Amino acid sequence: MKYDIIFMGGGQSGIFGAYEAVEMKKNLKILVIDKGKMLENRVCPKEKTGKCINCPMCAIIHGITGAGAFSDSKFNMDYRVGGDVHTVVGKSIVNEMIKYVVSIYKKFGFAEKPTGAEYNSAMFEIKKKCIENGVQLVDTPTMHLGTDGSRKLYSQLVSYLLEKGVEFRTERSLDDLIIEDNHVSGVIVKNKDKIEEYLSDNVVLALGRSGAEKVMTLCKKYGIKYENGAVDIGVRAEIPDIIMKEINENFYEAKMIYYSRNYKDKMRTFCSNPSGFIAVEKHANDVVLANGHAFKDKKSNNTNLALLCTKTFTEPFKQPFEYATAIAKMASMLTGGKLLVQSYADLKGGRRSTDEKLSRLNIVPTTEEYVAGDIALACPKRILDNIIEFIEIHDKITPGFASGDLLLYFPEIKFRSTRMEIGKNMETCVKGLYAAGDSSGYGSGLNIAAVMGILAVRNIFRR
Ligand SMILES: Cc1cc2nc3c(=O)[nH]c(=O)nc-3n(C[C@H](O)[C@H](O)[C@H](O)COP(=O)(O)OP(=O)(O)OC[C@H]3O[C@@H](n4cnc5c(N)ncnc54)[C@H](O)[C@@H]3O)c2cc1C
Repeated sequence: MKYDIIFMGGGQSGIFGAYEAVEMKKNLKILVIDKGKMLENRVCPKEKTGKCINCPMCAIIHGITGAGAFSDSKFNMDYRVGGDVHTVVGKSIVNEMIKYVVSIYKKFGFAEKPTGAEYNSAMFEIKKKCIENGVQLVDTPTMHLGTDGSRKLYSQLVSYLLEKGVEFRTERSLDDLIIEDNHVSGVIVKNKDKIEEYLSDNVVLALGRSGAEKVMTLCKKYGIKYENGAVDIGVRAEIPDIIMKEINENFYEAKMIYYSRNYKDKMRTFCSNPSGFIAVEKHANDVVLANGHAFKDKKSNNTNLALLCTKTFTEPFKQPFEYATAIAKMASMLTGGKLLVQSYADLKGGRRSTDEKLSRLNIVPTTEEYVAGDIALACPKRILDNIIEFIEIHDKITPGFASGDLLLYFPEIKFRSTRMEIGKNMETCVKGLYAAGDSSGYGSGLNIAAVMGILAVRNIFRR
């Protein structure tokens, strides 16, 4: 059977693309393929036992509705956050499409008011401190579903797609594309030991961050043009809520960008989770990354947020993905496959952290998936210097941030290494092959992933 559109990857891009397709035309044959499970079967054992048991396929990042399913689902309502596909299609189109995605969220029951839309005196004061300290505050309105809220929304969306006849093939991993005369005609997937072929003249490649390496391999194999994009490397910081109170209560999340004094590298805060929990992303046994999330109802006493350094590289270097992975492996070597945690006081003092030293702090970590140690043994000096400088700057805006009670989980890495060359229609140089979401190199958040999936579909119909 030949499908009208195949979404390779059933994450945010894939399911919003599938939604758009069924809304645009009835009786289409739409197929979504993912290496993970259907949403209702995605169970992380950690939810029950509190411990990661190294599942062969991490349910947090793989499966229908993608990495967003267990995420905090902060939905940024502005083109400036979540990726930079606006450099291809323009700012106004992205903002218009974001509004459309918000209308889909509302259709499926999300009705809460966004935070950060209207300024009060406390917010003006925070912005003033940012200006005084050379920090850009990217103050975009944000909807916050919470990990539990997003789960409900995605369940309804997937049920709707099933009712409309969208087919899902799960636990199937993309092996290869079928490309003839520079035109895609299907995909080859691995279903355990079996090889299966699914045919379509329109394939939307949306494999997320976890599929970034696969996308790069395919680009090389088929001469699909791509650039080595940036890679974001840093730490997930965790700090008692009381220190972040002003920002949390007024902005929920205040995204800050800062260029370091010595290296002039871009530093940014990302994905802040008030009263949230540290999440562990397991890409492989030796590639274990920090992340964070927050529930709407279940609360901790800590806020976590990423402090990331964006690194771009110059010729002849061509392997940012491998570079970042090597850093993650180095950390994992020290911890036996867990996150490496250190208090800021120990980091600044040049000492390793130990469980005993951490127990003297006010903060109680919200995960047990870590080994206390010394981040300086695994993190390149330039990145570490930038992180320390950024923490000290953050302290001027949020007094108490640079305290001994700041925990740093290493590494947090955002793989965005392969930036595929795409046109305004999201199509690559291979006819019928579209790129969307994080694996395209233009996305890093839920908003832009959904926008790109929808744009690809609209352009398939236009063609
Ligand atoms: C813990 C966590 C918290 C986050 N919090 C937020 C947040 O609050 N706000 C926000 O905007 N963003 C957040 N993000 C990022 C956000 O989830 C992603 O940007 C978004 O999901 C990207 O959508 P996507 O469709 O590009 O990829 P994904 O949602 O990652 O989906 C890609 C899918 O492709 C599948 N896949 C990968 N490789 C293959 C293969 N070879 N064969 C078959 N299938 C494959 C995967 O199983 C996955 O289901 C968070 C991410 C994580 C992990």
